[in-house]
Amino acid sequence: MKTLRQQMLDELGDKAMFEQATLYAYQYLDHLEEGRVYPSADDLEELSTFQEPLPDQGTDGKAVLEQLYQQGRKGTVQHTGGRYFGFVNGSALPVTLATKWLSDVWDQCGGLYLTSPINAQLEATCERWLVALFGLPPETIAGFVSGTSMANLCALTAARYHLLQRQGWDINEKGLAGAPPIRIIAHEQVHASIRKTLALLGFGQQQVEWIPSDEQGRLVLDSLPVLDETCMVLLQAGNANTGAFDPISNVCTLANKVGAWVHIDGAFGLWAAASKKLQYLTTDLAQASSWAVDGHKTLNTPYDSGIVLCRHPDAMMTALQASGEYIIYSDKKDPLLTTPELSKRARAIELWAAMKYLGRKGIDELVTTLHLRAQQLAKGVTLAGYELLNEVVFNQVLVGTTSDDRMEEILQIVHNSGTCWAGGSYWQGRRVMRLSVCSWRTSQSDIDQTIAILQQALATTE
Ligand SMILES: *Cc1c(COP(=O)(O)O)cnc(C)c1O
Repeated sequence: MKTLRQQMLDELGDKAMFEQATLYAYQYLDHLEEGRVYPSADDLEELSTFQEPLPDQGTDGKAVLEQLYQQGRKGTVQHTGGRYFGFVNGSALPVTLATKWLSDVWDQCGGLYLTSPINAQLEATCERWLVALFGLPPETIAGFVSGTSMANLCALTAARYHLLQRQGWDINEKGLAGAPPIRIIAHEQVHASIRKTLALLGFGQQQVEWIPSDEQGRLVLDSLPVLDETCMVLLQAGNANTGAFDPISNVCTLANKVGAWVHIDGAFGLWAAASKKLQYLTTDLAQASSWAVDGHKTLNTPYDSGIVLCRHPDAMMTALQASGEYIIYSDKKDPLLTTPELSKRARAIELWAAMKYLGRKGIDELVTTLHLRAQQLAKGVTLAGYELLNEVVFNQVLVGTTSDDRMEEILQIVHNSGTCWAGGSYWQGRRVMRLSVCSWRTSQSDIDQTIAILQQALATTE
């Protein structure tokens, strides 16, 4: 009998399992255009194979992989193809997949320079590149996290620290109970992740000074209360339904007069700043205090990848500090200084690869093309007889029809088709279809096929 250790050494030695994985991966990639964009009900049935009790005896590695491919693959959503328009889920640039493969083998622990010099170096590089790309103040520092939810959390943790510190209250020492008040200013259309962040930070919904948003989901400037130095103002660059941008420049001017903190949730929309054609949407972005953005949406890095950017390095690093006898900091910037985690994936690798591959020009082209495709989609659905509900300023297209029931039926038809996938949402009390163009791969032909299905769905539900 071979020992388990010997068995694993053999697997590393003969590479058969890895060759099998490579083959499966290529099969998946090669059939991306033919397969269903979303699993059928039958496909989903196959997932029951995973509902077994933990086996007593181990399983051969190749058999483990085989099960994952044969049955597990059926439960995948093809957001890396060109006709998935759900949520704001990005695709993955080929170079980011290849570099992720390689770095998976490296299996780096990204928390410290000491545990992964390459990750720390690439974080430093990405930080400088992003600051330059978005035109942010030079003192801005970045943290590399799982997504914008986590980036929002880091930013607002820094904001909370900063606003209290200025009132003579060290939250790390004294905690939140009994702290001087912080005013939180937000509009109704903030993303769910902001509400979650506020809860995590000990701020209740009733503490927020909610202000209305307009028909596109933008903050209404006239409703902004008088700000002071205890305020945290939460803005959005890219509404998850309409893609609309808040009036960043006006709000920042008012906030900076009194020293209020402005945070911008720009999960997918911050990338507008990298497009010559669209950067008007983010004018004066650099006047804010912190920003959150995803790699895995607009930039098309693999999951998961989010970035927090903050112009108050001390506030952020103090708010997120970690100490312990065994944590050995280097004289470089250690990744865990700007994130909640200690151990973490070396996700800067794919982010770096995406930016190095595309360059400024390529990033501009990627972002601008997503917008162009969204405009094509908007035009097509309008001609097909739908009601276009938003100004397509970025990559989101919001579509309505004659009744909620009909929209529900249409969404069903679209999902059953397997040709494309679009999310349902509610907008101003109506059931709507929400299409997000988020893949480098989406072509004119993908748009045409999608419009054809939508047109058919409209005809069948008449
Ligand atoms: C997607 C999104 C988030 C959350 O980002 P995750 O990467 O999913 O954590 C936050 N805000 C906006 C506007 C988003 O679109």
